[in-house]
Amino acid sequence: MASSSWQPDWPVPARVQAHFYSRAGGVSVAPYAGFNLATHVGDDSAAVRSNRQSLASELSTVAGFQWLQQVHSNRVVRVDSAGDVLTADGLVTQQTRLGCCILTADCLPLFFASRDGAEVGVAHAGWRGMAGGIIENLLAQMQSPPAEICVWLGPAIGPCHFEVGEDVCLSFAAVLPDEVIDECFKPAAQNGKYYADLYQLARRKLHALGVAEISGGAVCTVCDTEHCYSYRRDGQTGRNLSLIYIDP
Ligand SMILES: [Zn+2]
Repeated sequence: MASSSWQPDWPVPARVQAHFYSRAGGVSVAPYAGFNLATHVGDDSAAVRSNRQSLASELSTVAGFQWLQQVHSNRVVRVDSAGDVLTADGLVTQQTRLGCCILTADCLPLFFASRDGAEVGVAHAGWRGMAGGIIENLLAQMQSPPAEICVWLGPAIGPCHFEVGEDVCLSFAAVLPDEVIDECFKPAAQNGKYYADLYQLARRKLHALGVAEISGGAVCTVCDTEHCYSYRRDGQTGRNLSLIYIDP
């Protein structure tokens, strides 16, 4: 079975190619079945290599893929060509044919593109990275002003499943107004636990930074067993690929 992806419906030129790859297809076997692109999760390395090769042959216009070692940081790197794995949680490029890659299983993948299609970016945002400023740092690496940037929120753990402790709530309370905290953290049954809305936290941050064109944010990776890997649901599992590039 061939791989398949979800793509945003956003007002940017068609040369901007943004894809969230479903776990369908691929050759990985349980508990990583099937289109796992991550080398660090214990999957058979030959299977991951095969999945990455089929990705590369499907996307023949992509000259190179930039992969990251993601560490829940706020570090964003601007790249001009694909190179060795970088330790960071976001990528920006103005170059064509350069595939910027993020791997997730519950964390939020954010896709960025300027309205003129001249530059793109992608970020991995769990709660730690988002509270720490990954969105701010990604926008700072782009040359276009925020008003000219469109954002798509790829699949992440939804407020139906993202139960967190007081520490997470307090991290955001340090950087966001009380009204946003009340909106994005709903008390859970257990004392000191909350259901957090990563999507709404991202929207509120983006709005505050001047980004108005925001789409996506309607999927829960824990609920969607067919398309999404979920660390919260399965523990040992694969990672979905979020990829963006500019097609010449
Ligand atoms: Zn859910």
